[in-house]
Amino acid sequence: MSTSEKRQSTSGKRMSQSGIEPKMETMKLTEEQAASSNNTPAESAKPTEKPKKQDKERKDQKSTAKSSQQQSKKKAEEPALIGITCSKSEDLSEWYQQVILKGEMLEFTDIPGCYIYQPASYRIWEFIQSFFNDRIRKMKVKNCYFPLFITEANLQREKDHIEGFAAEVAWVTEGGKNKLEKRLAVRPTSETAMYSFYSKKIRSHRDLPLKMNQWNNVVRWEFKHPMPFLRSREFLWQEGHTAHMTEEEAGKEVLEILDHYAAIYEDLLAVPVVKGKKTIAEQFPGAHYTTTLEGFIPSVGRGIQAATSHCLGQHFAKMFDITVEDPNQQVKDGQARDKLHVWQNSWGFTTRSIGVMVLIHGDDKGLIIPPRVAEVQVVIVPVGVTAKMADADKQKLYDEVDKLRQTLEDVDIRVECDYREGYNVGYKFNDWEMKGVPLRLEFGPKDAAKGIVTTSRRDQSGSKGEIPVSDIGSEVPKLLEEIQKSMYQKASDEYAAHRKIVRDWADFVPTLNDKNVILVPHCTTEDCEDQIKKDSTGNVEGQEVDVRAPSMGAKSLCIPAEQPEEIKEGTKCVNPKCGKEAVKWVMFGRSY
Ligand SMILES: [Zn+2]
Repeated sequence: MSTSEKRQSTSGKRMSQSGIEPKMETMKLTEEQAASSNNTPAESAKPTEKPKKQDKERKDQKSTAKSSQQQSKKKAEEPALIGITCSKSEDLSEWYQQVILKGEMLEFTDIPGCYIYQPASYRIWEFIQSFFNDRIRKMKVKNCYFPLFITEANLQREKDHIEGFAAEVAWVTEGGKNKLEKRLAVRPTSETAMYSFYSKKIRSHRDLPLKMNQWNNVVRWEFKHPMPFLRSREFLWQEGHTAHMTEEEAGKEVLEILDHYAAIYEDLLAVPVVKGKKTIAEQFPGAHYTTTLEGFIPSVGRGIQAATSHCLGQHFAKMFDITVEDPNQQVKDGQARDKLHVWQNSWGFTTRSIGVMVLIHGDDKGLIIPPRVAEVQVVIVPVGVTAKMADADKQKLYDEVDKLRQTLEDVDIRVECDYREGYNVGYKFNDWEMKGVPLRLEFGPKDAAKGIVTTSRRDQSGSKGEIPVSDIGSEVPKLLEEIQKSMYQKASDEYAAHRKIVRDWADFVPTLNDKNVILVPHCTTEDCEDQIKKDSTGNVEGQEVDVRAPSMGAKSLCIPAEQPEEIKEGTKCVNPKCGKEAVKWVMFGRSY
């Protein structure tokens, strides 16, 4: 349903027409090789025991290289941690793959585009579920579950809808040894699975509004370039489907849901988004209109659709005969009232959000997870434990560490203590950093003597602080909130700095190439968008294009709800070949 997912795949298709970046190609190859060779990409992508020369040599990389050379001598006594070996700014695709694999977020399988969500990422999904369930329950939305399969007849009932999805529907044609008489579609979205039921369920205006939601998986098979979380053949989401008496009531809900989606991004994932409406060219197949959240990946200067909430209008109601009698009509005794078609919405939020979060916050050491969705918010690493240390002293230190843990757990902090023997402190630090734990507490004999713990924030590399042991129950929660806020602020400032107003076509492509998304006065028509896409691809005459930058054309991301200024009368569309009047500021950009 969500255009988010819908468009993911179409943009994939478009990309392949307009020239794919080499980076995407690489990722695809790795994955497909993996599938065919039974070599997991975790292995094939394993960073290589020999860091590239041009890599800026970070300390941990040096030690990594060293320790792997010495590995044969030392073996298990001093395990070597192989960190992230490529830089986010130099090769985002490779970086992304390493970060999610080594951060144990996700694992590849032998089916390209189908992934294993490891506990670290699934936990984030659970936080999202619980946050969103709380909000929609207040709106009287009820959770339910519909079957995975849809009959072909049902799937085809809304014309635009099936046209939009036809290319990527997976079909079941056999059951056991028998060929099915009628093949069954694996749901790409559930409008057509649910609305026959809605037609039965909604008997009178008193049955409205009907508000149902399901948390499930959907399958969209056809696309060329899977990318973990962002574009996958099977993904998890929630899909809400509601029916209302009036357009006004439906419209109000569409925006309310969009606000909740924005809250998931901003309040939980610390990811800034721009709210807006899709142009006709980019809206959901079968929708009356589509509202959207648009995110931004600064390291490549590309937009990314974050979530969508659609008003379906009465299109599906007409196809599935979902009607009620007009309660306001004056009728004589025995005379039938007119039938009114209901107004419907559908809205979806997917696991793509986790990928967006990773892409925005992670750094060259690995993941950075915002505290509110981190499975482990705080790790306590005992330090200063030496081989010479008496067992009793060691035990005393560990007991104190355990008290710290208890104090934090008492105030609902999710905490781990790293007592692993045989791993040096540097290894442990790097390991937890790679996994993105937002706050590390170090505690050793020296700290104990001073009555403090040493703090190290994951989002601020190298900055250390101290908290008196007696205050950790109050100070650690505060510090976690500060980390959450400052992660959001940093990302938000960066996004704002890369949303540029462009009034002249001459500035359009150069501004895009500077890794921005742009706001332009636009006519919002489909033909004009196609033209812009064509004219903003990398091979435009006279335009220098960075070989590493995507050369794909720009598409409209949204008509932002918050317009930078009013469009003055007589303002022309930014596209000089168009000639029409501009009606709105539209955000354009290269996009995932
Ligand atoms: Zn135009």
